Amino acid sequence: MRAAVLRDGHMAYRDDVPEPVPGPGQVLVAVRACGICGSDLHFASHGAEMLALTDRMAGDGAFGGLAVDLNRDVFMGHEFAAEVVEAGPDTDTYGPGTPVTSIPVLLSAKGAEPILSSNRTVGGYAERMLLSAPLLLPIPNGLDVKHAALTEPMAVGLHAVNKSNIAAGEAALVLGCGPIGIAIVAALRARGIETIVAVDFSPARRELARIMGAHETLDPQQGSPFDTTKQAVVFEAVGVPGIIDDVLLRARPGTRLIVAGVCMQADTVHPFFAIAKEINVQFVLAYTPDEFAASLHAIAEGDIDVTPVITGEVDLDGVGAAFDDLTDPDRHCKILVTP
Ligand SMILES: [Zn+2]
Repeated sequence: MRAAVLRDGHMAYRDDVPEPVPGPGQVLVAVRACGICGSDLHFASHGAEMLALTDRMAGDGAFGGLAVDLNRDVFMGHEFAAEVVEAGPDTDTYGPGTPVTSIPVLLSAKGAEPILSSNRTVGGYAERMLLSAPLLLPIPNGLDVKHAALTEPMAVGLHAVNKSNIAAGEAALVLGCGPIGIAIVAALRARGIETIVAVDFSPARRELARIMGAHETLDPQQGSPFDTTKQAVVFEAVGVPGIIDDVLLRARPGTRLIVAGVCMQADTVHPFFAIAKEINVQFVLAYTPDEFAASLHAIAEGDIDVTPVITGEVDLDGVGAAFDDLTDPDRHCKILVTP
């Protein structure tokens, strides 16, 4: 079958990938749409550093056991919507053709493996892949499978908002309007938060933030967002060195800072800024299965309209070019791969 694989730091097209065979409890599905994630771009260009950091990390965390050989082809793609093809042996599941999605985890007799980056487990950048029967969520009637593919990235925003414990009456300041910042803005709006201020250098990203629910947008070149915004829960979705320290420096006393941006480099902070202002810092990653399901239903019920987020669509042989295009913040938010 056809797939796009990471090879020597770039996405390569293949038409000779062996057909996945579902084991007990697994289901073969045909991928209908898979979003390209910033973390995949990052893994393509900095995979070796990510693996080295993962190796060093005690206590596993979410990336525990991520054993990938970068000298062999790597399968990726974790933001998928698909249709059931067939179930493995002794496996009850939805009928063929049923549209489904799932948290990106594959269960087998050996345990649970994230569908993130793997030499053997095929991800969503492929014609077909394996999912776990107990984890499948049917896509509600009538929801476009392309929209359902946004369940995963939108769940990331919902999780950040849940972790923030933001309450009615509180304001939110969202720094960075890439896909994660946009998902946070959408989740805040769906929560009924009445003051959402979104900040980005890119005019196109600010406009998308406005469409997705921000009440106000700011260009940080025009001044500090902390000068113009009242006390706010701050969501950091930039993920570059220096941004956390900058928030600690500028934010008001008692600020809650949610760090959703994924910075892979070492970074420096001045604890004194946070100490003097008693700032509470919460790092967040991914979502719970319940949040994933809630995200699917928020999209299906129209609480979150993901249409503006989808800015491009490519076939499997266009994934390499799409990875390049996504480096320009003015051109794209989410590109879907539609095999
Ligand atoms: Zn993702």
